[in-house]
Amino acid sequence: MSDSHSVLLIEDNPGDARLIEVMLAEDPETPFRLNCVDRLARGLEFLASEKPGLVLLDLSLPDSHGLDTFARVYAHSPTVPIIVLTGNDDQTVALTAVKTGAQDYLIKGKLDRELLVRAMHYSIERKRYQEQLEHQANYDALTGLPNRNLLLDRLKQAVFAQRQVRSIALVFIDLDHFKFINDSLGHNAGDKLLQHMAERLSSVVREGDTVSRLGGDEFILILNDQHNEDVIFRAMQRIINKLSEPVSIDGHELYVTCSAGISLHPQDGPDIETLLKNADAAMYRAKERGRNNFQFYTSEMNRLVNERLALESSLRRALERREFLLHYQPKINLKTGAIVGVEALVRWQHPEWGLMYPDRFIPLAEETGLIVPIGEWVLRTACEQNRAWQDAGLRPVTVSVNLSARQFRQEALFKSVARILSETGLRPRHLEMELTESMVMHNAEAAIAILQGLKELGVQLSVDDFGTGYSSLSYLKSLPIGILKIDRSFVRDISARGGRDGGVLAQAIISLGHSLKLKIVAEGVEDDAQLKFLKAYRCDEAQGYYFSKPVPPEECARLLAREKRSRKSR
Ligand code: C2E
Ligand code: MG
Ligand code: MG
Repeated sequence: MSDSHSVLLIEDNPGDARLIEVMLAEDPETPFRLNCVDRLARGLEFLASEKPGLVLLDLSLPDSHGLDTFARVYAHSPTVPIIVLTGNDDQTVALTAVKTGAQDYLIKGKLDRELLVRAMHYSIERKRYQEQLEHQANYDALTGLPNRNLLLDRLKQAVFAQRQVRSIALVFIDLDHFKFINDSLGHNAGDKLLQHMAERLSSVVREGDTVSRLGGDEFILILNDQHNEDVIFRAMQRIINKLSEPVSIDGHELYVTCSAGISLHPQDGPDIETLLKNADAAMYRAKERGRNNFQFYTSEMNRLVNERLALESSLRRALERREFLLHYQPKINLKTGAIVGVEALVRWQHPEWGLMYPDRFIPLAEETGLIVPIGEWVLRTACEQNRAWQDAGLRPVTVSVNLSARQFRQEALFKSVARILSETGLRPRHLEMELTESMVMHNAEAAIAILQGLKELGVQLSVDDFGTGYSSLSYLKSLPIGILKIDRSFVRDISARGGRDGGVLAQAIISLGHSLKLKIVAEGVEDDAQLKFLKAYRCDEAQGYYFSKPVPPEECARLLAREKRSRKSR
């Protein structure tokens, strides 16, 4: 800590030095203690050992002259306030010193005690205030870590300032599911979590490395002088492990993980922008790989990122360009063999890339929020279509629509379903909504409330891909759902090729579902053996290539029409 009342006077003229000494001594109230040296070199020595609160600096010294004198003191001790002492004739130099960092200047011939003391107090305060502003501009208020500003400064220094190229690792860290914590426990808890994480990060890196917060739940580390990927690899393991230790906040034990991406200088980018972009791409890859891991940047990632960007920008325009369409896959009642429903499955007819299946674009739509308007379009189109089939005299069936997690969390979901039903005139019982286990189990209480609302509207509700996610059976019992769809992986196990245990899980799900009074639908039925098995265990309905692939609406209409004729003719 500096002693703010210790003042260093660097002045080679004994008369001038004596004058200042006397002025300060004359003032009985002055708190300042003066130390005089007559050479710059001695001044710098003193600065190194004592750290005074103020420097009074004569620019013309035997071992240094002019602005250079100031520059050297300032470079040595940038946080100590400096008042330049100058003769009447070189005020311009003194002003330049003030512009480049000195707090004030005094003209030696025109000095009096009051002026001197006031300038000294003022300079100390001014410097303190400047430092405070600088701190605010460079540090994150929540965590006290360097912010983006300072990070970029330090990166510039690390990358450019050195003559020889330095090896640094830039690490982009993003907490997994932070938004979920923030939303469910509140922003206060979110802030505390970020502070904990900031502390942990600071504690695991080496001295001289930088830990900074970019904003939100994003942190960036600069690891200096990292020549060896193995060493970085181990450091990253340490960091990821440290961050994933349980943390207790407001009485909650939280298990938070993070995903990280690493880019290396110089090999992964000549400049800061590229390094940051590449570390971000690597972090993104870590998220895709299931989170809670880290990835080193590769040029392959760049290709993936570019593809994703292209996909995202076309996806944004796909709705207004009317590029989506629905295919429908029939669902068969296994007792009667009749089509009792159809599942609407979205397709994207891209002008260049051709017909794209949902696995290619739904995850991205989900991530970008575009799923909400797309999902609404699907819902409306499916309801309109079903209503049109009924108006055309086809036998009424249910249309099922898949709901995404993001749509499910929308407050407006209920309203939008109710509005679409009333606008299209489709009876609610002819609409079924498919959810997945994870959507429901993530926040079961809230889910039950939403589902209850939909059920009261009269809409049918089913759990899709049942058995692949994590379900709590006790919640399953209290959910207002009527249908379980057995995931096709269990149906695949049934067929003769399925091996010893073929079908035990499908069988278990059917009997579990029936004891909960749920209707059971088997997905992905492809052959006779599977069908026989499902019939034998009294599965209610089935869907799959064995009956029909998902087909365009016109073809689906033909299937429904044929059905009607054949039933009449029976
Ligand atoms: P899902 O809801 O489980 O839909 C069934 C998927 O299984 C469909 O793939 C369908 O073509 C496929 N399938 C049907 N029968 C068979 C079969 O016998 N064998 C095999 N191997 N596969 C069969 P698709 O159309 O590619 O859809 C994939 C997933 O995309 C859907 O799985 C659903 O989760 C999602 N999805 C589709 N449309 C929408 C939508 O409009 N909104 C949302 N949020 N998700 C959708
Ligand atoms: Mg489905
Ligand atoms: Mg499914």
